[in-house]
Amino acid sequence: MTPALTIKEVSHSYGPRKALDDVSFSVPPGSFTVLLGLNGAGKSTLFSLITRLYAARHGEIEIFGHNIMREPGAALRRLGVVFQARTLDLELSVMQNLVYHAALHGIGPIEARRLAHAALARAGLADRAKDKARALSGGQMRRVEIARALLHEPRLLLLDEATVGLDIKARADLLALVRELVQEKRLGVLWATHLIDEIADDDQVVILHQGRVLATDRAQAIIVEQAAANIGDAFTHITGAAQEKLSA
Ligand code: ADP
Ligand code: MG
Repeated sequence: MTPALTIKEVSHSYGPRKALDDVSFSVPPGSFTVLLGLNGAGKSTLFSLITRLYAARHGEIEIFGHNIMREPGAALRRLGVVFQARTLDLELSVMQNLVYHAALHGIGPIEARRLAHAALARAGLADRAKDKARALSGGQMRRVEIARALLHEPRLLLLDEATVGLDIKARADLLALVRELVQEKRLGVLWATHLIDEIADDDQVVILHQGRVLATDRAQAIIVEQAAANIGDAFTHITGAAQEKLSA
C-alpha cells in the first residue's frame, strides 16, 4: 500500500546549523500519526519542506507516491495543511476565507460555496459562515482552518501544533474532530505536537529530537519497548539516552 506521506533521508540546515538530520518515516493512509518533539526539534522545518516553502537539499519527499519536486501538481493536490501560525484573514467573513482559498485551487465560486458549506457543517460551524473571522474563538478559528485545508479534498492533512493556545475543551474538541476525519474519510494525518497527552495508544508516533528521528512505532509498542509506564516516560527515556550518547 502506497503511504500517504514518505520522508526519505531528508536533511536540512539553516546556515551551519542542522535542523533535520537524515529523517525518514512514513504516514500510512487512514492513520493518525503524531510527530512528537520539543520546541526546536525540527517539526515546522519538516512542514516547510513538505509544502515546498523550502527546497530539501538532501532526501526525497513523496505524497501518495508523487515526488514533490518532480510531480508537484499531483503531490500538492493531495495535501492539505494547517500551519502553526494562524492564517485566516480576520477582516473577511468565514465564507470569504474559504472561497478565496478554493479559488487558489482552481475551484469555481459556486462549487466553492457548496464545498465550503459542507466543510463548515462538518466542523460544527454551519451557523458562522457570515461572521467575520475576528468574531470566532481560537478553537473555532482552528476548525475553520481545518475546513479550509480540506476544501480541495486532500488525502493527507498536516497540522502543526494545532492546539497550542487553546483551552482544554477546545483542544479536546479539535483533536476529536481530526480523529473522526481520519475514520470517516480515511485521511492520513500528520499531527505535530510537543504535548504528550494528545497521544493515544493506537497512534503511530514519530519521535523527533534535535533534528533526528529516535523512534517510529505505535505508541503502545514504544512504551513496551522502553519498559515505560506511559508514552511520556518512554519519550524521556529515549531522548535522555540520545543526550547521553551525544555527551559521551
Ligand atoms: P519545531 O517546529 O519543532 O519547534 P523548528 O523546525 O521551528 O522546530 O526549528 C528547528 C531548529 O531550526 C531550531 O533550532 C530553530 O531555532 C532553527 N530554525 C528554525 N527556523 C529557522 C530559520 N528560519 N532560520 C534559522 N534557524 C531556524
Ligand atoms: Mg514549530
